[in-house]
Parts: sequence; structure tokens; C-alpha cells
Amino acid sequence: MTREHQVLNPATEELLATVPATTAAEVHTAVGRAAAAQQVWAALAPADRARLLRRFAVAVDSRTEELARLEVREAGHTIGNARWEAGNVRDLLDFAAGGVERLSGRQIPVPGGIDLTLLEPLGVIGVIAPWNFPMPIAAWGTAPALAAGNAVILKPAETTPLTALRLAELAREAGLPEHLFQVLPGAGDEAGNALVEHPGVPKIVFTGSTRVGRQIMAKCAEHVKRITLELGGKSPNIVFADADLEAAAAAAPLSFLDNAGQDCCARTRILVQRSVYDRFLELLAPALAAVVVGDPADEKTQMGPLISRTQLERVRAYVPEDAAGLRGSAPGGPGFWFPPTVLTGVPAHAPVATEEVFGPVAVVLPFEDEADAVRLANATDYGLAGSLWTRDVGRALRVAQAVRAGNLSVNSHSAVRYWTPFGGFKQSGLGRELGPDALTAFTETKNVFLSTEA
Ligand code: NAD
Repeated sequence: MTREHQVLNPATEELLATVPATTAAEVHTAVGRAAAAQQVWAALAPADRARLLRRFAVAVDSRTEELARLEVREAGHTIGNARWEAGNVRDLLDFAAGGVERLSGRQIPVPGGIDLTLLEPLGVIGVIAPWNFPMPIAAWGTAPALAAGNAVILKPAETTPLTALRLAELAREAGLPEHLFQVLPGAGDEAGNALVEHPGVPKIVFTGSTRVGRQIMAKCAEHVKRITLELGGKSPNIVFADADLEAAAAAAPLSFLDNAGQDCCARTRILVQRSVYDRFLELLAPALAAVVVGDPADEKTQMGPLISRTQLERVRAYVPEDAAGLRGSAPGGPGFWFPPTVLTGVPAHAPVATEEVFGPVAVVLPFEDEADAVRLANATDYGLAGSLWTRDVGRALRVAQAVRAGNLSVNSHSAVRYWTPFGGFKQSGLGRELGPDALTAFTETKNVFLSTEA
């Protein structure tokens, strides 16, 4: 019997679509087709590949509003965020297209000849995406992989396949070869696993939970398969006593409430120097209460629902009814709603303070001095992102160097940029995406020596 996935609108629980799940056998057929398409693609002149990717970017640009509205319905993202996300796909395609003619190897001085390095495409890349940012994360793997001369098979998350399927249609409309970029919706343990186990897929780009990332890494080891992992986070937001407290408090809510907290970079551990702890909470309370939670299609909304009932139950389990702290409001009725929540008085080792909740929940923990702040910030298996607020430049640099995380931000909570590298330390991942080296991650380096003495 064919498996299917129901796609629900998380703000209303209305059924949007039923999408057939790709079987393992269908994945195998798709890999064969992708391998053939990749040969054609890699043989094109670089300028022609770049031109086709730019056309793909134009196709996405002309459908930004349509894609954004679809993301609002399938993922509950606010319309403002969803427009940014569709624009991010366009920008990344443009950025990657600009790299096609610049993807050059090196000439290394050696005696007796000439030594060259060639950057060759890997072949068929498997991209496995999560539901929290369906469009951007799909594009982070897909755009540079295509630009480097590879084919891509994208397996979107079960709950959010619709924008990915639309992107595949736009790629065809833009003139990319048939089967070069295929989107195969389906279950992680079937379609996703078939990609991971397929010997004809030399690299997997996985974004998702650390639990599944570990399993995939173990399976990739069987084939010594290349892998990029973008996993979970429990990122600190460190506020020193010398910081602009008003600015730090004003920025703190959206640093963990964006996308209803379903963001791997969410700053969910707010570490505040004890001498300003009470003052910071006084400033945080009105900032939290002011966050507009509601219909994600409304232009004024800043936070929408959680993705699913399962996620709602998971988040609820972390927050006792009588927990001390600050709470915002959330709509009642249908939809997967949870109010913005900041917990105080929580032990630093409590599950809510150490595990990734993936919902609109943060904890505030006091610290004594700089060394204590660094110790607390690093007291986690994760290391994806972090922010620190201080007016002392020396301290900003010291702490930014001492925190074991891949993406740090001083006096801000910087968004991810497609032209700067992104990825995690420790159990937050392996490898880097985006940035100047994005295309190189989808190549093998071959060294060729030509004798001049023969
Ligand atoms: P998940 O790990 O359950 O699933 C992610 C994807 O993997 C889905 O497409 C799923 O179908 C697939 N999958 C599941 N089991 C699989 C298997 N055995 N083999 C192959 N594929 C399989 O994660 P999720 O719940 O969809 O996403 C939320 C998680 O993603 C969070 O933990 C979050 O931190 C993480 N995340 C990380 C980043 C980052 O860049 N570091 C970005 C976004 C999300």
C-alpha cells in the first residue's frame, strides 16, 4: 500500500494536501536518473550552467509571494519571515551561480613538472531537510551542489514538502535538465534512509536532530560517504553588566521566539550577570509581552504556531503549569499554539536549560563574572550559535573566542547570511554550509602531476 503524508495548516489544523510518500525502490530509480542528468550537467560550459542557475533564481524571484504564502500555510511561518525565506533561496541561487566560473583549482610549484589540482563534482548529492525552515535549508545544500556540477535529490520533511515540490517545478521551468534536481517527499526511515544507504549517492547533507544525525553518520561510515551535518542547538545569549541593557532586553524575545522557537540558533539560554539580573528581567517583561502572536498571514504578526501537535506536546512537557517566570499570550482554539515563555529559578542542569526544546521557551540564568559566563555558555553538548552583549571590546573578543560555537554575534543576534559560513561545533554538526567555500564542499580535489622531463 502506498504511504501518504497529510500536510496540515498548523495555525488552523485544516488539511492542505495529501502527498504520496516515495518508496525506497523509487529512490533507487531516481538516483539512476539523477546520475545520468549529472553527466549532462557537468559537461555543460560553466557559463551555461551559471546562466541556468540564474534563470532558476529569476523564476523563484517572480514567485516569491506565491512561495511565501505557501510556506505560511504549510509551516505556520509569519508572512514577513516567509518572504525573507523565498528571497533567501533566490539569493543563494544567484550567489552559487556566481561561483560556477570561479570554482578553480591551484597550480602548486613542484620540481620536474607542473602540479595542478582539479575540483571535480561528486555526483548525486542527497539533501535531507527538516520542517523548521523548509525552503532556505533545502537551498543551502542544493544551490552550491548544483553550481559545483552535481545533481541533487532533496528529501523534504514529512510535514513540509509543498514549497520544496514547487521549487523543483520552478527549476524545470527555468530550463534545468530533467532529473537534475528531484524532490522526493517521504518518510525519513524509508526515502531518507534509502538515500543514505545508496552507494550511488556519495554525499549526504543532513539538517535535523542530533539523534537522527548520529544514525546517519554511522550509516554513511559504511560507504565512507561524505557528510555535512547541521544539527541541534541550545545557544546562549550572554548579557554583561556593562551592556546596553535596554537594547539587550529589547532584542532578547525575538532571538528565541522567531519561528516560534523552532530555530536551531534560538538563543534559549539567557545568561545575565547577577548584578543586573533583576533590572534585566524588569526590562524583558514588557518586551516579551509586546510580541505579537497570532495569525501568521497577518503582516503584524511576529510569532505563529508550532508545526504540529506532536511538537506542541513536546514543548508542553518541558514547562510545568506553575513554573516561575514570564509569559506572553497565544491564541486559543484550533492550531498548535504555545505562549512566549521565559523561565526563572531553573537549575542550570535542568532538562529545559540543557536540552533543545524547539519551542518558544527560554531560561534566564545568573552568572558572576566573565569566566563564569564562559563556563555556563560552554556547559552544553551543543555549539551552534551564541550572542554576547557588552560595551567592552576586549571582553567581546575574548568571550567570542572562548565560546565553543560556530556562529557568534556581538551586541546583536545576527541572522544567517548566505555569504558567510554557517555550522556547528561539538554535537551541533559537522562541516560548514554557505559562505565563500560553499561550492568546494561539493567537490573532490584531484591532484594531477604533469612531468616536463619525459
Ligand atoms: P529530524 O531529525 O526528525 O528530521 C530531519 C529530516 O530527516 C526529515 O526530513 C526526516 O524525514 C529525515 N529523517 C528522519 N529519520 C531519518 C533516517 N533514519 N534516515 C534518513 N532521514 C531521516 O528533525 P526535525 O524534527 O525535522 O527538525 C528539527 C531538528 O532540526 C532540530 O533538532 C533542529 O535543531 C535541527 N535543525 C538544525 C539546523 C542547523 O542548521 N543546525 C537547522 C534547522 C534544524
